[in-house]
Amino acid sequence: MDLIGNYIGGEVVMPAADARLLDNVEPATGRVYGQLVDSTETDLEAAVAAAETALPHWRAMDIETRAGYLERIAELIEDKLDALAAAESRDNGKPLALARGVDIPRAAANFRFFARAITQFASESHAMGERAINYTLRSPLGIVGCISPWNLPLYLFTWKIAPALAAGNCVIAKPSEVTPKTAAMLAEICRSAALPAGVLNILHGRGDGIGSALVAHPKIKAISFTGGTATGSKIAAEAAPHFKKLSLELGGKNPTLVFADCDWEKTLDGVLRAAFANQGQICLCGSRIYVESSIYQDFKTALLERLARLKVGDPQTDVDQGALVSGAHMEKVLNAIAQAEKEGGQILCGGERLQIEGRCRDGYFVAPALIEGLPIDCRTNQQEIFGPVATIQPFSSEEEALQLANGTGYGLAASVWSQNLNRCHRLAAQLDFGIVWINCWMQRDLRTPFGGMKNSGVGREGGWEALRFFTEAKNVCIDYGECN
Ligand code: NAD
Repeated sequence: MDLIGNYIGGEVVMPAADARLLDNVEPATGRVYGQLVDSTETDLEAAVAAAETALPHWRAMDIETRAGYLERIAELIEDKLDALAAAESRDNGKPLALARGVDIPRAAANFRFFARAITQFASESHAMGERAINYTLRSPLGIVGCISPWNLPLYLFTWKIAPALAAGNCVIAKPSEVTPKTAAMLAEICRSAALPAGVLNILHGRGDGIGSALVAHPKIKAISFTGGTATGSKIAAEAAPHFKKLSLELGGKNPTLVFADCDWEKTLDGVLRAAFANQGQICLCGSRIYVESSIYQDFKTALLERLARLKVGDPQTDVDQGALVSGAHMEKVLNAIAQAEKEGGQILCGGERLQIEGRCRDGYFVAPALIEGLPIDCRTNQQEIFGPVATIQPFSSEEEALQLANGTGYGLAASVWSQNLNRCHRLAAQLDFGIVWINCWMQRDLRTPFGGMKNSGVGREGGWEALRFFTEAKNVCIDYGECN
């Protein structure tokens, strides 16, 4: 059985004989196939000590050399694409093709992008008339913590680690205890890249154990967190007494607005992908679909036809949908579907647990569900379900579409599907979301700010935003006028 240990001070530390272990379950089969260490405060102290030792050298290293390590890590991730994708699919339940085509390439892209970005991250300066000049010094924060979720395991883990390292910080990172495998493989990659010991440390274990201890540790200067809104709120409360810098990327309940003048085929493909990619387990998934009433019936029928063609099954084979991440999460999703029915929703398709023949017969599969007839203020439309479940509703005017879209406590991502560009710009300006996609979904340019408003989070990641977050700014003002 696979045993996963921590990565501390450049070494993989296997769990001691008396260490607490957690089971690692393969979601497609429901079987335990490995174990991971549930780290303790002793492990955290060892990681902090290793990071403290490594910090002076790492932060003082010239930028090209530091960037070189990140480039090397990116290359090694690419070299191991097949093995990493297979591991991600097995650990998470996502289709192999998705892990191979999106998750792992984006993890490599994260390292490569920030390796290059840091070499361009120059100090700003401002002249004050003709007698003084200001410039901004940016220095690393020191030791920072990165905590990530299970839905895009290596992709989101590296999205935090890469900018933090590029900016000269030492990192203590905790992947989700539900999907630890590719983080463990990243540790091996960092060893192969000869990343100096202690620069990156990876601790495994439970959120309310080692995760919480990481947030509370006085020597950890900032926490970059991606996960659920309730966890984000706990972390914010825990970090507040220490005045820690926080970046919180939280949940979403994202609207998809479809207008009668949309490009029909492109929109159907886009709306389907937005709602159900990764079994609906992406914070950006468009789980509330609003369609202009003049095309509502036809659009709904065409979407249902496409949904009926989605192949759900063993994620290691050629399927559109794999398994949900865990038995507990599957139960949560099935309960949310039952709740939608109680609220008067009509289940147009799917919504039941699927029994897959063969090795996956005990896996956590749910047929993608489309639900109609629910008002905006019901729980189904207000709470993040984070599964293959979307609601669909008609709207009769642009104003109504906007009201529905903005009508939840979340504000992560919206998409608008229309060929009327004036309307698209108008809506983009009025939608209360950190990201607005027009005639597309989940296209990412790593230079752009990424994050949410309202209950979807605080702060932005990506591009300069990430490098600003992971550095402290100091203003230096020099008066060079004549003394008199
Ligand atoms: P989660 O909040 O349960 O866990 C996320 C991480 O936080 C895990 O590593 C977990 O161990 C850790 N954690 C849990 N409790 C903690 C605590 N008290 N202190 C410190 N760490 C703690 O989330 P999840 O179930 O792993 O992921 C799903 C959620 O993540 C969804 O709500 C989804 O929308 C959100 N998400 C958001 C984004 C985004 O960019 N906004 C991206 C992906 C996922």
